[in-house]
Amino acid sequence: MTNNFLLSHRQEEPEKGILYLVGTPIGNLSDISSRAINILANVSLVACEDTRQTKKIMNRFNISNNLISFNKENSLNKISKLIAELKTGKSIALVSDAGMPGICDPGEDLVSEVKSAGLSVICIPGACAAITALVSSGIPSSKFIFEGFLPKKNIDREKILFEISKNEKTTIIYESPYRLKKLLKELLEFCGGDREIIVARELTKKFEQHVGNNINDVLTYFKDKEVIGEITLIIKGIKKENNQGINKADLKKDLHELIKAGLSISAASKYLAKKNGIKKSIIYNLN
Ligand code: SAM
Repeated sequence: MTNNFLLSHRQEEPEKGILYLVGTPIGNLSDISSRAINILANVSLVACEDTRQTKKIMNRFNISNNLISFNKENSLNKISKLIAELKTGKSIALVSDAGMPGICDPGEDLVSEVKSAGLSVICIPGACAAITALVSSGIPSSKFIFEGFLPKKNIDREKILFEISKNEKTTIIYESPYRLKKLLKELLEFCGGDREIIVARELTKKFEQHVGNNINDVLTYFKDKEVIGEITLIIKGIKKENNQGINKADLKKDLHELIKAGLSISAASKYLAKKNGIKKSIIYNLN
């Protein structure tokens, strides 16, 4: 009974005029679902971050379909065209190079526009590096914050690093292997070497690796190594009782009060930095 229901449900897919978000593997091609294969084979067209990448998946499962490119560079132009296609009753699958479309990949804007146009979006779930790393880390997974890639601009980056240092929830970060050591050094500066962390490398692939246990250990491990492969970091939150009551809102309020009392922003930041044991630039940038 249940099997029949599942089968008939699948055979009815894809339906006309629907945008399907299709999760694809993050390394191990066997992680694709039969439902995803069915959708990729039978929609009217597949919008891909990189058609060459998606072609590899299609070839592996002996399916072919009409692939078009949809990426950061061309998404603005393509969204209205894709919506027009959906309105004519065509079904579209959106895939990224790996994992769930919409997670640090183009897709977010398309989904929002498609929904605003009154059309339906259905997700065919698949692997996501953030969740795969989180659940295998041993670090609490019930409450977490996903930061994706940290901003490159110093001022924005320091703000987020500061938030992570005070965060009671687990933090998930994506990082390129070339920038891992720099990020670990920044985390050391903001969070201290004892902070628990797992660097998950090459998840679901042949050389999958989970490096821990704290920031000092991980820095030592990678010190003389060339970092290669894809990287996701999981950072444990701090205990509530260790949070010393410092938070961004309080600091901002203190900063504004000192400025109002006549101190320059530089002097006020210096004073608060010393008082709270954190970098002056972090306070300065809160203004
Ligand atoms: N949409 C993808 C998802 O659902 O996870 C993420 C795409 S984002 C552009 C790519 C980043 O995800 C990589 O730079 C890396 O930080 C992380 N990532 C992807 N595959 C991974 C893997 N197999 N192991 C560890 N991290 C991975």
